[in-house]
Amino acid sequence: MNTTITMKKHNYSAGPCILPQEVFEKSADAILNFNNSGLSLLEISHRSKDFVAVMDEARDLALELLDLKGKGYQALFLHGGASLEFLMVPYNLMKTDGKAAYLDTGTWASAAIKEAKLFGETVVVASSKDQNYNHIPKGYTVPEDANYFHCTSNNTIFGTQMKSFPNVSIPVVCDMSSDIFSRVLDFSKFDIIYAGAQKNMGPAGTTLVVVKEEILGKSGRVIPSMLDYEKHIKAESMYNTPAVFPVYASLLTLQWLKKLGGIAAVEKLNNAKAELLYNEIDRNPYFKGAANVEDRSNMNAVFLLENEEHASVFDTLWKEAGISGLPGHRSVGGYRASMYNALPIESVQVLVDVMQDFESKVSGMNF
Ligand SMILES: *Cc1c(COP(=O)(O)O)cnc(C)c1O
Repeated sequence: MNTTITMKKHNYSAGPCILPQEVFEKSADAILNFNNSGLSLLEISHRSKDFVAVMDEARDLALELLDLKGKGYQALFLHGGASLEFLMVPYNLMKTDGKAAYLDTGTWASAAIKEAKLFGETVVVASSKDQNYNHIPKGYTVPEDANYFHCTSNNTIFGTQMKSFPNVSIPVVCDMSSDIFSRVLDFSKFDIIYAGAQKNMGPAGTTLVVVKEEILGKSGRVIPSMLDYEKHIKAESMYNTPAVFPVYASLLTLQWLKKLGGIAAVEKLNNAKAELLYNEIDRNPYFKGAANVEDRSNMNAVFLLENEEHASVFDTLWKEAGISGLPGHRSVGGYRASMYNALPIESVQVLVDVMQDFESKVSGMNF
Protein backbone atom coordinates (compact mmCIF):
# COMPACT_ATOMS: atom_id res chain seq x y z
CA MET A 1 0.00 0.00 0.00
CA ASN A 2 1.31 3.43 -0.87
CA THR A 3 0.23 5.97 1.71
CA THR A 4 2.83 8.61 0.88
CA ILE A 5 1.25 12.00 0.38
CA THR A 6 2.77 13.48 -2.74
CA MET A 7 0.58 16.57 -2.86
CA LYS A 8 0.72 17.76 0.74
CA LYS A 9 -0.90 21.18 1.05
CA HIS A 10 0.38 24.14 3.03
CA ASN A 11 -2.16 23.77 5.81
CA TYR A 12 -3.12 26.97 7.65
CA SER A 13 -6.24 25.50 9.22
CA ALA A 14 -7.09 27.00 12.62
CA GLY A 15 -8.20 23.66 13.98
CA PRO A 16 -8.25 20.74 13.65
CA CYS A 17 -4.83 21.59 12.39
CA ILE A 18 -1.65 20.36 10.81
CA LEU A 19 0.37 17.82 12.79
CA PRO A 20 3.90 16.57 12.11
CA GLN A 21 4.00 14.23 9.12
CA GLU A 22 5.64 11.51 11.23
CA VAL A 23 2.65 11.65 13.59
CA PHE A 24 0.29 10.91 10.72
CA GLU A 25 2.48 8.06 9.53
CA LYS A 26 3.02 6.46 12.94
CA SER A 27 -0.69 6.82 13.81
CA ALA A 28 -1.61 5.13 10.56
CA ASP A 29 0.79 2.28 11.39
CA ALA A 30 -0.75 1.89 14.86
CA ILE A 31 -4.23 1.65 13.40
CA LEU A 32 -3.10 -1.26 11.27
CA ASN A 33 -0.77 -3.00 13.71
CA PHE A 34 -0.18 -1.50 17.14
CA ASN A 35 3.26 -2.25 18.62
CA ASN A 36 3.51 -5.33 16.40
CA SER A 37 0.74 -6.91 18.42
CA GLY A 38 -1.21 -8.12 15.41
CA LEU A 39 -4.05 -5.87 16.59
CA SER A 40 -5.16 -2.37 15.76
CA LEU A 41 -4.86 0.39 18.35
CA LEU A 42 -8.60 0.79 17.76
CA GLU A 43 -9.55 -2.75 18.82
CA ILE A 44 -7.61 -3.28 22.04
CA SER A 45 -8.74 -2.67 25.58
CA HIS A 46 -7.87 0.71 27.02
CA ARG A 47 -6.92 -1.26 30.13
CA SER A 48 -4.40 -3.37 28.23
CA LYS A 49 -0.78 -3.00 29.30
CA ASP A 50 0.16 -1.40 25.99
CA PHE A 51 -2.48 1.30 26.15
CA VAL A 52 -2.02 2.04 29.84
CA ALA A 53 1.63 2.67 28.96
CA VAL A 54 0.52 5.16 26.28
CA MET A 55 -1.68 7.06 28.72
CA ASP A 56 0.98 7.09 31.43
CA GLU A 57 3.66 8.33 29.06
CA ALA A 58 1.39 11.00 27.55
CA ARG A 59 0.52 12.34 31.01
CA ASP A 60 4.12 12.26 32.13
CA LEU A 61 5.53 13.83 28.98
CA ALA A 62 2.99 16.66 29.03
CA LEU A 63 4.16 17.61 32.52
CA GLU A 64 7.82 17.18 31.57
CA LEU A 65 7.55 19.48 28.55
CA LEU A 66 5.76 22.12 30.65
CA ASP A 67 8.45 21.76 33.34
CA LEU A 68 5.79 20.86 35.90
CA LYS A 69 7.02 17.43 36.97
CA GLY A 70 7.30 16.98 40.72
CA LYS A 71 5.54 20.29 41.36
CA GLY A 72 2.18 19.00 42.56
CA TYR A 73 0.47 18.87 39.17
CA GLN A 74 -1.50 16.15 37.41
CA ALA A 75 -2.09 15.88 33.68
CA LEU A 76 -5.37 14.44 32.42
CA PHE A 77 -6.66 13.60 28.96
CA LEU A 78 -10.41 14.18 29.15
CA HIS A 79 -13.35 14.32 26.77
CA GLY A 80 -15.65 17.16 25.79
CA GLY A 81 -13.17 19.61 24.32
CA ALA A 82 -12.05 22.88 25.83
CA SER A 83 -15.75 23.79 25.87
CA LEU A 84 -16.49 21.29 28.63
CA GLU A 85 -13.70 22.83 30.71
CA PHE A 86 -15.65 26.09 30.57
CA LEU A 87 -18.06 24.49 33.03
CA MET A 88 -15.77 21.97 34.76
CA VAL A 89 -13.61 24.85 36.01
CA PRO A 90 -16.39 26.67 37.90
CA TYR A 91 -17.91 23.34 39.02
CA ASN A 92 -14.63 22.38 40.67
CA LEU A 93 -13.35 25.76 41.84
CA MET A 94 -16.20 28.23 42.42
CA LYS A 95 -17.55 28.04 45.96
CA THR A 96 -21.32 27.78 46.33
CA ASP A 97 -21.41 31.36 47.65
CA GLY A 98 -18.22 32.42 45.91
CA LYS A 99 -17.31 34.30 42.76
CA ALA A 100 -14.92 34.09 39.86
CA ALA A 101 -12.98 36.67 37.81
CA TYR A 102 -12.66 36.47 34.02
CA LEU A 103 -10.76 38.40 31.38
CA ASP A 104 -12.83 38.74 28.20
CA THR A 105 -10.49 38.67 25.21
CA GLY A 106 -12.57 36.95 22.55
CA THR A 107 -15.22 34.49 21.49
CA TRP A 108 -13.85 31.60 23.56
CA ALA A 109 -13.26 33.73 26.65
CA SER A 110 -16.83 34.96 26.50
CA ALA A 111 -18.11 31.41 26.03
CA ALA A 112 -16.27 30.48 29.24
CA ILE A 113 -17.84 33.46 31.02
CA LYS A 114 -21.31 32.39 29.93
CA GLU A 115 -20.85 28.97 31.57
CA ALA A 116 -19.36 30.41 34.77
CA LYS A 117 -22.43 32.61 35.21
CA LEU A 118 -24.50 29.43 35.62
CA PHE A 119 -22.56 28.73 38.82
CA GLY A 120 -22.34 32.09 40.52
CA GLU A 121 -21.13 35.67 40.46
CA THR A 122 -18.80 36.14 37.53
CA VAL A 123 -16.80 39.36 37.45
CA VAL A 124 -15.49 40.40 34.04
CA VAL A 125 -12.34 42.32 35.00
CA ALA A 126 -11.90 43.79 31.50
CA SER A 127 -13.11 43.25 27.95
CA SER A 128 -11.99 44.31 24.48
CA LYS A 129 -15.33 43.37 22.95
CA ASP A 130 -16.28 46.94 21.99
CA GLN A 131 -13.26 47.00 19.66
CA ASN A 132 -14.02 43.60 18.17
CA TYR A 133 -11.35 42.04 20.39
CA ASN A 134 -8.45 43.59 18.47
CA HIS A 135 -6.30 43.86 21.59
CA ILE A 136 -5.68 42.44 25.05
CA PRO A 137 -6.98 44.74 27.82
CA LYS A 138 -4.30 45.95 30.24
CA GLY A 139 -4.22 47.66 33.60
CA TYR A 140 -7.22 45.83 35.05
CA THR A 141 -7.54 44.73 38.65
CA VAL A 142 -8.36 41.19 39.67
CA PRO A 143 -10.48 40.97 42.85
CA GLU A 144 -8.43 38.91 45.28
CA ASP A 145 -11.54 37.56 46.97
CA ALA A 146 -12.55 35.67 43.82
CA ASN A 147 -12.08 31.91 43.91
CA TYR A 148 -9.99 32.01 40.74
CA PHE A 149 -9.00 34.15 37.77
CA HIS A 150 -9.60 32.82 34.24
CA CYS A 151 -7.92 33.99 31.07
CA THR A 152 -7.33 32.81 27.50
CA SER A 153 -3.68 32.88 26.48
CA ASN A 154 -4.29 32.99 22.73
CA ASN A 155 -7.40 34.19 20.95
CA THR A 156 -7.63 31.89 17.97
CA ILE A 157 -10.30 33.86 16.13
CA PHE A 158 -9.05 37.43 16.57
CA GLY A 159 -5.31 36.69 16.47
CA THR A 160 -4.27 38.19 19.78
CA GLN A 161 -2.06 36.62 22.43
CA MET A 162 -1.36 37.49 26.05
CA LYS A 163 2.33 38.37 26.38
CA SER A 164 2.15 38.68 30.15
CA PHE A 165 -0.14 37.45 32.88
CA PRO A 166 -1.25 39.25 36.03
CA ASN A 167 0.41 38.39 39.31
CA VAL A 168 -2.39 37.41 41.62
CA SER A 169 -2.59 35.41 44.83
CA ILE A 170 -5.70 33.47 43.79
CA PRO A 171 -5.63 30.38 41.52
CA VAL A 172 -5.07 31.21 37.85
CA VAL A 173 -6.86 29.16 35.19
CA CYS A 174 -5.83 29.47 31.57
CA ASP A 175 -7.40 28.23 28.35
CA MET A 176 -4.28 27.54 26.28
CA SER A 177 -6.07 25.61 23.54
CA SER A 178 -4.39 27.40 20.66
CA ASP A 179 -0.88 28.05 21.97
CA ILE A 180 -0.09 25.20 24.37
CA PHE A 181 3.46 23.89 23.86
CA SER A 182 4.26 26.81 21.51
CA ARG A 183 6.24 29.12 23.80
CA VAL A 184 8.08 29.00 27.08
CA LEU A 185 6.15 30.37 30.04
CA ASP A 186 6.53 29.85 33.75
CA PHE A 187 3.73 27.30 33.74
CA SER A 188 3.94 26.96 37.53
CA LYS A 189 2.18 30.34 37.73
CA PHE A 190 -0.99 28.61 36.56
CA ASP A 191 -3.14 26.32 38.64
CA ILE A 192 -5.21 24.89 35.81
CA ILE A 193 -4.18 24.85 32.17
CA TYR A 194 -6.48 23.28 29.63
CA ALA A 195 -6.31 22.82 25.89
CA GLY A 196 -8.44 21.04 23.33
CA ALA A 197 -5.95 18.80 21.53
CA GLN A 198 -6.87 19.79 18.01
CA LYS A 199 -5.13 23.18 17.86
CA ASN A 200 -1.54 22.33 18.61
CA MET A 201 -1.24 18.86 20.12
CA GLY A 202 -3.23 16.20 18.31
CA PRO A 203 -6.50 15.26 16.66
CA ALA A 204 -9.86 16.40 18.01
CA GLY A 205 -11.38 14.22 20.71
CA THR A 206 -9.32 14.77 23.80
CA THR A 207 -8.49 17.72 26.03
CA LEU A 208 -5.34 18.13 28.05
CA VAL A 209 -6.03 19.39 31.56
CA VAL A 210 -3.11 20.16 33.83
CA VAL A 211 -4.19 20.83 37.35
CA LYS A 212 -2.45 21.65 40.61
CA GLU A 213 -3.91 19.14 43.01
CA GLU A 214 -3.90 21.34 46.11
CA ILE A 215 -6.56 23.70 44.71
CA LEU A 216 -9.18 20.94 44.35
CA GLY A 217 -11.84 19.80 46.81
CA LYS A 218 -12.62 23.26 48.18
CA SER A 219 -15.72 24.34 46.28
CA GLY A 220 -18.22 22.67 48.62
CA ARG A 221 -20.19 21.49 45.61
CA VAL A 222 -21.41 18.00 44.86
CA ILE A 223 -19.78 17.36 41.52
CA PRO A 224 -21.02 14.73 39.04
CA SER A 225 -18.31 12.09 38.64
CA MET A 226 -17.44 12.77 35.02
CA LEU A 227 -16.96 16.46 35.79
CA ASP A 228 -14.88 15.98 38.91
CA TYR A 229 -11.14 16.51 38.41
CA GLU A 230 -10.37 14.59 41.59
CA LYS A 231 -12.19 11.51 40.28
CA HIS A 232 -10.26 11.67 37.03
CA ILE A 233 -6.97 12.03 38.88
CA LYS A 234 -7.75 9.08 41.13
CA ALA A 235 -8.59 6.97 38.06
CA GLU A 236 -5.34 8.05 36.36
CA SER A 237 -7.30 9.58 33.48
CA MET A 238 -9.18 6.31 32.88
CA TYR A 239 -12.39 7.01 34.77
CA ASN A 240 -14.20 5.87 31.66
CA THR A 241 -12.91 4.74 28.27
CA PRO A 242 -10.51 7.44 27.11
CA ALA A 243 -10.27 8.62 23.52
CA VAL A 244 -7.57 6.12 22.69
CA PHE A 245 -6.67 7.34 19.23
CA PRO A 246 -6.49 11.09 20.02
CA VAL A 247 -4.44 10.33 23.14
CA TYR A 248 -2.05 8.14 21.17
CA ALA A 249 -1.61 10.72 18.39
CA SER A 250 -1.11 13.42 21.03
CA LEU A 251 1.61 11.31 22.62
CA LEU A 252 3.34 10.99 19.25
CA THR A 253 3.21 14.78 18.85
CA LEU A 254 4.67 15.29 22.31
CA GLN A 255 7.44 12.80 21.51
CA TRP A 256 8.14 14.70 18.29
CA LEU A 257 8.33 17.94 20.26
CA LYS A 258 10.72 16.46 22.80
CA LYS A 259 13.01 15.19 20.01
CA LEU A 260 12.96 18.65 18.46
CA GLY A 261 14.32 20.10 21.71
CA GLY A 262 11.12 20.86 23.59
CA ILE A 263 9.12 24.06 23.85
CA ALA A 264 12.16 26.37 23.77
CA ALA A 265 13.25 24.94 20.43
CA VAL A 266 9.82 25.13 18.83
CA GLU A 267 9.33 28.65 20.16
CA LYS A 268 12.32 29.82 18.12
CA LEU A 269 10.80 28.32 14.99
CA ASN A 270 7.40 29.82 15.81
CA ASN A 271 8.96 33.26 16.31
CA ALA A 272 10.76 33.02 12.97
CA LYS A 273 7.55 32.03 11.16
CA ALA A 274 5.53 34.82 12.77
CA GLU A 275 8.21 37.41 12.04
CA LEU A 276 8.39 36.37 8.39
CA LEU A 277 4.65 36.71 7.88
CA TYR A 278 4.03 39.85 9.97
CA ASN A 279 6.93 41.62 8.27
CA GLU A 280 5.23 41.00 4.95
CA ILE A 281 1.80 42.07 6.24
CA ASP A 282 3.36 45.34 7.44
CA ARG A 283 5.51 45.92 4.37
CA ASN A 284 2.98 45.04 1.69
CA PRO A 285 0.74 48.06 0.96
CA TYR A 286 -2.16 45.80 -0.05
CA PHE A 287 -2.56 44.15 3.37
CA LYS A 288 -3.13 45.21 6.94
CA GLY A 289 -3.07 43.29 10.23
CA ALA A 290 -6.29 43.06 12.25
CA ALA A 291 -4.86 43.01 15.78
CA ASN A 292 -2.87 45.64 17.66
CA VAL A 293 0.81 45.05 16.94
CA GLU A 294 1.88 44.55 20.57
CA ASP A 295 -0.75 41.85 21.14
CA ARG A 296 -0.34 39.93 17.90
CA SER A 297 -0.54 36.17 18.12
CA ASN A 298 2.39 34.08 16.94
CA MET A 299 -0.03 31.24 16.30
CA ASN A 300 -2.91 32.87 14.38
CA ALA A 301 -2.07 35.85 12.18
CA VAL A 302 -5.26 37.64 11.14
CA PHE A 303 -4.97 40.07 8.23
CA LEU A 304 -7.18 41.89 5.78
CA LEU A 305 -6.94 43.26 2.28
CA GLU A 306 -6.75 47.03 2.05
CA ASN A 307 -9.22 46.75 -0.81
CA GLU A 308 -11.79 43.94 -0.69
CA GLU A 309 -12.27 44.19 -4.43
CA HIS A 310 -8.94 42.42 -4.86
CA ALA A 311 -10.12 39.33 -2.97
CA SER A 312 -10.74 37.09 -5.96
CA VAL A 313 -7.25 37.80 -7.35
CA PHE A 314 -5.59 36.94 -4.04
CA ASP A 315 -7.81 33.90 -3.45
CA THR A 316 -6.91 32.44 -6.83
CA LEU A 317 -3.20 32.94 -6.20
CA TRP A 318 -3.00 31.24 -2.81
CA LYS A 319 -5.17 28.36 -3.90
CA GLU A 320 -2.95 27.81 -6.95
CA ALA A 321 0.08 27.77 -4.64
CA GLY A 322 -1.34 24.76 -2.74
CA ILE A 323 -2.37 26.73 0.34
CA SER A 324 -5.36 25.51 2.35
CA GLY A 325 -7.37 26.87 5.28
CA LEU A 326 -6.59 30.58 4.88
CA PRO A 327 -10.02 32.28 5.02
CA GLY A 328 -10.62 34.22 8.23
CA HIS A 329 -13.32 33.52 10.77
CA ARG A 330 -16.68 35.06 9.85
CA SER A 331 -16.53 37.42 12.83
CA VAL A 332 -13.40 39.18 11.50
CA GLY A 333 -13.36 38.41 7.78
CA GLY A 334 -10.19 38.58 5.73
CA TYR A 335 -7.59 35.90 6.28
CA ARG A 336 -6.15 33.91 9.14
CA ALA A 337 -2.87 32.10 8.84
CA SER A 338 -2.60 29.61 11.69
CA MET A 339 1.05 28.77 12.21
CA TYR A 340 0.96 25.98 14.73
CA ASN A 341 4.04 24.03 15.82
CA ALA A 342 3.98 21.55 12.94
CA LEU A 343 3.67 24.13 10.14
CA PRO A 344 7.04 24.32 8.39
CA ILE A 345 8.57 27.74 7.72
CA GLU A 346 8.66 26.78 4.04
CA SER A 347 4.86 27.00 4.03
CA VAL A 348 5.07 30.54 5.40
CA GLN A 349 7.56 31.45 2.68
CA VAL A 350 5.10 30.17 0.07
CA LEU A 351 2.41 32.48 1.48
CA VAL A 352 4.78 35.45 1.59
CA ASP A 353 5.76 34.80 -2.03
CA VAL A 354 2.08 34.72 -2.98
CA MET A 355 1.49 38.04 -1.21
CA GLN A 356 4.36 39.60 -3.16
CA ASP A 357 3.12 38.11 -6.39
CA PHE A 358 -0.31 39.57 -5.61
CA GLU A 359 1.24 42.97 -4.97
CA SER A 360 2.93 43.07 -8.34
CA LYS A 361 -0.23 41.84 -10.11
CA VAL A 362 -2.65 44.35 -8.56
CA SER A 363 -0.24 47.28 -8.73
CA GLY A 364 -0.41 46.91 -12.49
CA MET A 365 -4.20 46.65 -12.56
CA ASN A 366 -6.77 49.33 -12.83
CA PHE A 367 -9.72 48.74 -10.53
C1 LIG B 1 -11.04 26.07 19.67
C2 LIG B 1 -11.00 26.69 20.99
C3 LIG B 1 -11.87 26.32 22.02
C4 LIG B 1 -12.97 25.30 21.82
O1 LIG B 1 -12.40 24.05 21.78
P1 LIG B 1 -13.30 22.72 21.68
O2 LIG B 1 -12.28 21.67 21.94
O3 LIG B 1 -13.88 22.68 20.31
O4 LIG B 1 -14.34 22.79 22.72
C5 LIG B 1 -11.74 26.93 23.25
N1 LIG B 1 -10.80 27.86 23.47
C6 LIG B 1 -9.94 28.25 22.51
C7 LIG B 1 -8.91 29.26 22.82
C8 LIG B 1 -10.01 27.67 21.24
O5 LIG B 1 -9.15 28.05 20.29
